[in-house]
Amino acid sequence: MGNKKIGLNTICTHTGEIEDTQFKGAISPLYMSTSYAFENVDIKRYPRYFNTPNQEALCKKIAALEHTEAALIFGSGMAAVSTSLMAFLHAGDHVVFQQTLYGGTYNLATEEFNKYGIAHSFTNGWQPEDFENKINENTKLIYIETPSNPLLTITDLKGIAKIAKKHGIITMIDNTFASPVNQNPIDFGIDIVIHSATKYMGGHSDICAGAVASTHENIARIFHLAKNFGGSLSDYTVWLLERSIKTMGIRVKAQNENAQRMAEYLYAHDDIQNVYYPGLPSHPEHELAKSQMSGFGGMLSFELKARYKASEFQAALQLIKPSMSLAGVESTVLSPAQTSHALMDPATRQQQGISDQLIRFSVGIEEPEDLIADIVQALQLLKSKVTVAAT
Ligand SMILES: *Cc1c(COP(=O)(O)O)cnc(C)c1O
Repeated sequence: MGNKKIGLNTICTHTGEIEDTQFKGAISPLYMSTSYAFENVDIKRYPRYFNTPNQEALCKKIAALEHTEAALIFGSGMAAVSTSLMAFLHAGDHVVFQQTLYGGTYNLATEEFNKYGIAHSFTNGWQPEDFENKINENTKLIYIETPSNPLLTITDLKGIAKIAKKHGIITMIDNTFASPVNQNPIDFGIDIVIHSATKYMGGHSDICAGAVASTHENIARIFHLAKNFGGSLSDYTVWLLERSIKTMGIRVKAQNENAQRMAEYLYAHDDIQNVYYPGLPSHPEHELAKSQMSGFGGMLSFELKARYKASEFQAALQLIKPSMSLAGVESTVLSPAQTSHALMDPATRQQQGISDQLIRFSVGIEEPEDLIADIVQALQLLKSKVTVAAT
């Protein structure tokens, strides 16, 4: 298809596919070989060199989805995060991380960086000036997440790119929550885009993988470390992920629509006090989200009124299941205070706006009426308990 510009769902379905010249099958053949005859001395194919036929095919698709020249895929989102960060950092360097960070990335920074002599700071907020405040003469990298977990704050991509360019700093984004369907940070000047492909790219809660997309030059630098760290993905999973991404455009758009509907429903509900969703006009960064996202995503969070317990609400749900992970076609919920942020001291949690009543909602593709009915029956059950307790 050459370099002609093609649309999202066509990229999802076709870009990178391997033609089955032998049998004319409709899908990319799966090459499980770990051993390949030398084509010439420059090309040595091997899974850990990230260059098997299926890996290269999928990387083309992911690069096209993120509007970049190149991509690499990994055995997990954290393999992509850790390898990408370490590829650009040396002893003596400093990184500025957004305050609200995915738990695994937070642990990587706070548990591991010290022994490599890499310093880090967390911002106090998510505006460009909050990042600029933390820059010092050793700062080499700014790392952001937008929309963030679990309160769906929106960081100004152009604003971040601008201050980074001013100080000669590399920018990385964890784009997992948005997915490439809703947000392409490269178009706003961000240098390197990372995904946990376990989430929207996989989309069926059956694949653990990661991806990074950027220029040829940046990807070559990450590859140089990646082959030594060895976090490559099995070709069978690569092949499954290629299949999953074929439907990512339509899945994520259905999830956007359902999430908008759920956010509006919850916002109007008497038993709910706050709804955090960038697609709601009440969201403080709604206009910013509109300017840099083409859809608002399938993730939202909301707070139950103080008389209800998050744990009881989750237990009362029948269709929507409690789960640590997110982004599957099935709807799931979790209580950040009891799970992802349980180890954080309660004062910090409170200060970050993560209350005990907060529920994070990963909206799936079920019929929205059925999701609403499940929430209605759960709230009714809780209400009857509160009424019984009061009498
Ligand atoms: C899940 C997740 C990760 C880590 O991905 P794994 O595939 O679990 O290693 C990183 N960032 C975000 C935002 C995630 O949701």
